[in-house]
Amino acid sequence: MIQDSDICNNHLWTEAIQRIPKFVGHRIAEQRCETVEAIMYEYLLAGNGLLLRAAREEFTASLPIAYREVKGLRETFVGLRWHRPRITSAIWDEILMHARNSHTATDFKENVYLIYWDKVRSMWRWRAAGRNNSWAATIADDQLPEYADACIELHTHPPGALNFSGADDIDESGKFRIFGILVDVHDKPKIRFRCGIYDQFVQMPASWISVLPKGIVDLNEVESLLQMML
Ligand SMILES: [Zn+2]
Repeated sequence: MIQDSDICNNHLWTEAIQRIPKFVGHRIAEQRCETVEAIMYEYLLAGNGLLLRAAREEFTASLPIAYREVKGLRETFVGLRWHRPRITSAIWDEILMHARNSHTATDFKENVYLIYWDKVRSMWRWRAAGRNNSWAATIADDQLPEYADACIELHTHPPGALNFSGADDIDESGKFRIFGILVDVHDKPKIRFRCGIYDQFVQMPASWISVLPKGIVDLNEVESLLQMML
């Protein structure tokens, strides 16, 4: 005969298991602003499509991986929700100046820049972190303490290389942070951002991160405008 106490214990045990956060979650949206419950990332099916979501100290990412109206479900916020003050445009100006002054256009060498929140000074900071720099390759120095803290990893590309490369996909997978490329640093500079959530990358407009200084073109924004016009 099954005792009432056994049924109750089973029920409590099931509830406890359900409360343990999953590494990868699959959820249905119930509110416009949902917190991320999974340890690594989660898929959220919402009224405005399927979102890939993950959270870290500096921001929560809610990235669209399939835009589609799903009737009967709540629409959910899409973009980056920052838990720190927004990054000022001066940072991009400083990085661009550093990239321009490090090499001439004809003797170009890639570099990596880390952008991180300085907890002691309560401000955004950056530092150059490339090693083994060459015309079309560099490696981030992952021994630097700033490397672990960085939530944005930006690297320069040689003139005309407007897209993340296959080597970038390999180097940047397995991490959860924003990645960027800064192209044509000596003439008509351009920038492109994507958010990497382990082995998935979603391109996004620079406006989700910061206001860009005048003179730096956001490639993702230009391309999405062009698509709308076609
Ligand atoms: Zn690259």
